[in-house]
Amino acid sequence: MSQNMVFRSKETTMQSSVSVMVYSLSGLDRLNEENVAAAMAVVEETGLSRILVTDGAGKVLYDTRETGSAVGNYVLYAEIVQALMGNDAFSCSYRNGAFRSRASSPVLYQNQIIGSVYAYEYDVEQAALLEGLQSNLLRISAVVGVCVLALSMLLSMALTEKISRLMTAIRQVREGAYSHRAEIRGGDEIAQIGDAFNSLADRLQTTEDARRRFVSDASHELKTPLAAIRLLTDSILQTDNMNRETTREFVADIGMEAERLSRITEDLLQLTKLDSGIIQAPVVVDVLPVLEQAMRMMSLVAQEKGSELTFSAEEGCLVMATRDEVHQVISNLTDNALKYSAGGPVQVSLRKRHGQVVLSVADRGPGIPEADLPRIFERFYRVDKARSRAAGGTGLGLSIVSDTVKRRGGTVEAANRSGGGSVFTVRWPAAEGGDAS
Ligand code: ADP
Repeated sequence: MSQNMVFRSKETTMQSSVSVMVYSLSGLDRLNEENVAAAMAVVEETGLSRILVTDGAGKVLYDTRETGSAVGNYVLYAEIVQALMGNDAFSCSYRNGAFRSRASSPVLYQNQIIGSVYAYEYDVEQAALLEGLQSNLLRISAVVGVCVLALSMLLSMALTEKISRLMTAIRQVREGAYSHRAEIRGGDEIAQIGDAFNSLADRLQTTEDARRRFVSDASHELKTPLAAIRLLTDSILQTDNMNRETTREFVADIGMEAERLSRITEDLLQLTKLDSGIIQAPVVVDVLPVLEQAMRMMSLVAQEKGSELTFSAEEGCLVMATRDEVHQVISNLTDNALKYSAGGPVQVSLRKRHGQVVLSVADRGPGIPEADLPRIFERFYRVDKARSRAAGGTGLGLSIVSDTVKRRGGTVEAANRSGGGSVFTVRWPAAEGGDAS
């Protein structure tokens, strides 16, 4: 490109020089050595290496070269031939560190070609400039190339390093080290993937912690009645001549513990079913008949405890669930109320409010300490372990209620009543019409 630029500038300058010479010869009707020499004498110094002026046949009349002058000879350079044919000619080449440029133009008199002017320039200065420019460009390109290469290597190393840190974290978590986190700084996409992975690992760890706690709580709960049974059987077996009365008492205790074991396993099975995600298709359930049936059953328990169990209900409370689920929710909450209120009154109410079916179970028992309120729906969580156990509780009832209600889009909450006691409120989305079961 730079060579071409030089070629073009040479063409302009050479041709204008040649035009100046042609102009100084333009008044002549015929060219000969004398009048050409006289005309050329007034042409300013052009800096050209050689100038030739020929007549119409190509015979040299004027030559600036002193040694080996071509005056008197016929010189038929391609450019001179072109000029004698009436055309301007120019050629330029770059070889061995020099520009060689040739330009020629015809000399006319009354539209007749009477000769030609030929100029030749041998230029090493511009060639040196060009070479300097080219080698500078080459050096700059090399430096830029090396910088780009180094920068892309640095970038790719940083990227590879981040990816390998992420991969290590994935591997560690996959092998069970749930507490391992990917530490990737920055705000690029890989750092974002790292953050997403970390929050995934957080969830995994929470789930894993909950699973571990559940397994250890469950085995602890199962171990307690089993240990009691072993203790009681050992006492019976190791005591010679144990009286009938004591033996009966011990066997009755064994029976109670066994009953408790079966309650816990039943509750655990129920929770496992809820966890498995396999849910029965919901149907439209009319809550009132289910409530009435549950109340008939619970009134026997209330009688036994000397509690007064009352209920009020509206008709047309329909929910999308199954009959068994609704029954279980009502009986678990009523059973708790009777269990913890020790002979106090228990009121159950069912009504429809703002598109929801609201069931509330209120008692006048001890209530629940505010600090424990958010936790009582957790598995095996009990406010007073000894009291719950003595009352035959498993610590799973409320979590079964909560899971059962939530899977159908409902909510359950516990609160303390002013004047003492607690109230549990379940809200199901109300169902419209259908054949209620
Ligand atoms: P449990 O089998 O021990 O009753 P739940 O899951 O049903 O287990 O209840 C969890 C805990 O919540 C109970 O241990 C008890 O401390 C508290 N609780 C539940 N219902 C009531 C209530 N009506 N009054 C006071 N405390 C209650």
